[in-house]
Amino acid sequence: MRCRHRRDRGGSAVQAAAAGRPVNIEARFEQTRARERALGVAHWEQPDHGVFAIGVEVAGRPPLRFVGRPHRPASSVDFRLYLPGLAAYYTARGGRVVIGPVDLPRLGRRHDLVVVASGSPSVPGLFPRDPARSPFGRPQRRLCAGFFRGIAPTEPMGLHFQLCPGVGEIFANPFRSVAGPAHALMIEAVPGGPLEAITRLPCDADPEGFERTLLALLARFAPAVRDRVDPGEFGLTRPIDLLQGAITPVVRHGWAELDDGRFAVAVGDAWVLNDPIVGQGANLGSRTAFLLADAILAGPPYDAAFCRAVHARMWEAARPVTEWSNAFLQPPPPHAVELLVVAAHDPRVADAFVENFNDPPAMWDALCAHERSAAWLKRVRTTAPAA
Ligand SMILES: Cc1cc2nc3c(=O)[nH]c(=O)nc-3n(C[C@H](O)[C@H](O)[C@H](O)COP(=O)(O)OP(=O)(O)OC[C@H]3O[C@@H](n4cnc5c(N)ncnc54)[C@H](O)[C@@H]3O)c2cc1C
Repeated sequence: MRCRHRRDRGGSAVQAAAAGRPVNIEARFEQTRARERALGVAHWEQPDHGVFAIGVEVAGRPPLRFVGRPHRPASSVDFRLYLPGLAAYYTARGGRVVIGPVDLPRLGRRHDLVVVASGSPSVPGLFPRDPARSPFGRPQRRLCAGFFRGIAPTEPMGLHFQLCPGVGEIFANPFRSVAGPAHALMIEAVPGGPLEAITRLPCDADPEGFERTLLALLARFAPAVRDRVDPGEFGLTRPIDLLQGAITPVVRHGWAELDDGRFAVAVGDAWVLNDPIVGQGANLGSRTAFLLADAILAGPPYDAAFCRAVHARMWEAARPVTEWSNAFLQPPPPHAVELLVVAAHDPRVADAFVENFNDPPAMWDALCAHERSAAWLKRVRTTAPAA
């Protein structure tokens, strides 16, 4: 399949993207990075935005804490660099990029299959919401995410995942932004709770007031992050490097018939849009794009049976991510709390839990039910060598 494009080798697209607001603060885990290496697009290997450890802290008296190390580091790169970088590479390999309105009937007539990977909100009306897979009708969190200077990295360098039951979550991790090395902060606020105000507080008019409010929230809800802040240095990397909003998680019907018996298939956020609470949207988009590409490579016909079969395979990958993400938006069941308690006392469990961010089916298997959780813990504790 080919895309028609303006003759843009990436330069002006990079400038335009860099001038806009962030689109996420993503961490790409090892399976995604391995796919990037396989494609020859692993341009983001520098250690200054590597996630070599993930620390989890659950607020309480006393708080529950552990740090685990993945086998291989994750990477966090600004999509305002990453996506134009991929587009430039695609162009250099002979692909063509056209940026503009989508004329689906025309695309359908010109191609055997149309793949829609335009992110949320997809192509309006083409892929309706699938109510059986979309339990929420409104956002479960309000979001505030941005890139900051003046936050020292953890040792070992990595991501801090602060959970405050009933209030929300706060993430902090080293990040390669358009403005250079930085620290990403993301606040997931339970609507109506004490974190919500910062997700609506305008920053442009009074950046210092915004930063003071944010520091006060970190001191109250994420003291381990606040302790690493140098107040004299702390601030947004640029006024524009802030994203505020909310996501209603949704799974859409993944394919649609166009005119003339041609079909369109959705992938990425155009198909499954999860709250970023467990950091998997880009990783899942990459995984399912590869599944779709393999099916396309197997050859036509790209008919309804093809769409049904490939989407069943893609849902096998998407279901654990979606159910895990949606579960984390709810109060945790006792077996999930118990798993975190064990992780806080057993480094083998901490490491295995953290490694599961790179293996969502394994993570969901460990969390989905009491018996599965117990079996996972037993397996980890009997097979992993004691620290
Ligand atoms: C705050 C936040 C934090 C996140 N954290 C993580 C994380 O830690 N890990 C993770 O894996 N995911 C994370 N995500 C989710 C992740 O950003 C998305 O799931 C992922 O970007 C989806 O990829 P996509 O390619 O489907 O869509 P997008 O990344 O939105 O890309 C779609 C592309 O299509 C282009 N496009 C759209 N329409 C057209 C058109 N008509 N012509 C040409 N181009 C077009 C857009 O410009 C864009 O470049 C986070 C999201 C948010 C909001």
